[in-house]
Amino acid sequence: MSETFTGSFTQQEPIPEDAIEAALAVLRHGRLHRYNVAEGEAGETALLEQEFAAQMGAKYCLAVASGGYALATSLRAVGVKPGDKVLTNAFTLAPVPGSIASVGAEPVFVEVTEDLTIDLDDLAAKADQAKVLMLSHMRGHLCDMDRLMEICDGAGITVIEDCAHTMGASWSGVLSGKHGAVGCYSCQTYKHVNSGEGGLLITDDEEIAARAIMMSGSYMLYGRHLAAPGPEVFERVKYETPNISGRMDNLRAAILRPQLRDLDTQAERWNERYRTVEEGLRGTPGLTVVERPEQEVYVGSSIQFLLLDWSEEAVQEAVRRCAARGVELKWFGTPEPVAFTSRYDSWRYADTPRLPKSDRVLAGIIDMRVPLTFSLEDCTQIARIIRAEVSAVYQGA
Ligand SMILES: *Cc1c(COP(=O)(O)O)cnc(C)c1O
Repeated sequence: MSETFTGSFTQQEPIPEDAIEAALAVLRHGRLHRYNVAEGEAGETALLEQEFAAQMGAKYCLAVASGGYALATSLRAVGVKPGDKVLTNAFTLAPVPGSIASVGAEPVFVEVTEDLTIDLDDLAAKADQAKVLMLSHMRGHLCDMDRLMEICDGAGITVIEDCAHTMGASWSGVLSGKHGAVGCYSCQTYKHVNSGEGGLLITDDEEIAARAIMMSGSYMLYGRHLAAPGPEVFERVKYETPNISGRMDNLRAAILRPQLRDLDTQAERWNERYRTVEEGLRGTPGLTVVERPEQEVYVGSSIQFLLLDWSEEAVQEAVRRCAARGVELKWFGTPEPVAFTSRYDSWRYADTPRLPKSDRVLAGIIDMRVPLTFSLEDCTQIARIIRAEVSAVYQGA
């Protein structure tokens, strides 16, 4: 009998005990709204912002209701207006083009390379089409950020980074989220810290920070923020910045603060698992491992490999055979959107021409979550199963 994996690909670790204690303290005093604080109390949300700003070396930070909200707020804060075009990745998740559509703007998709990063030649070719790039570090893959910033700075393009999968990652020693004008993070259950839902936004630009804070629903209580610009900046924007409520609350912030302190340790644990799977997959006939550049420090909370130029039927067969042995793989080539996975041609609110390079790569991308509830033995077994099934299909067994 061939072996079967019995673990769950969607089971996260429990919330750490110190985070549970902090959450209970908030529940006991009942001041869940971020601006509902006792005399002399800063509040969990304001402290979270202060700590995350320090951790990232950013001047300003805002905690919000979701990663998607952080993206849309950033677009508004940098001045994107209805009808504007915004460059973004063809390989990303639905909330990214969704954030662009939510402000009435129009996504212009840039091709993806076999390294699963934005195609910088295509970006350079399209640089005259928009003033803003919503850069998605999809599945944690960082492109050559030095060259990207050179292209964007040269063309006067403002960069917003979607760091939903790169919290804790860096390029040439610069933390992900610190290259562009704004860095956005998600604290949703499947990301690197877990408050169910939640988002964080960092920037060094005082006007972007003030507008984002006003938009998130600060009313005139912005003075209670600990990672915000001074009141004179709010004076400049407060009458013309709409309130589009999307605040974080003290309960989620309480859960997140201890998790952020553990981020580096957790990243290392993810990477041990990632490298174990990667090692097990290396040399599988027909399978391309996505090599990580030397300048990149990644957080391997998921792994991707390519079945490049395989027929649709063969890919589906490999995915089906792995699933039958308990290994859940997502395929980005599927013509119909499934679960969390969809592709640029599923987002039909955008009028997008075919992207031949991306079509080829997307048709070969296989994606797998690597939750921390997996042991290293689990990872070895999973790789063994994938290797066996992919080889069998490739060799026509
Ligand atoms: C999860 C995710 C988001 C949005 O985060 P939410 O908190 O779910 O709104 C944005 N971009 C990518 C690539 C994501 O995976």
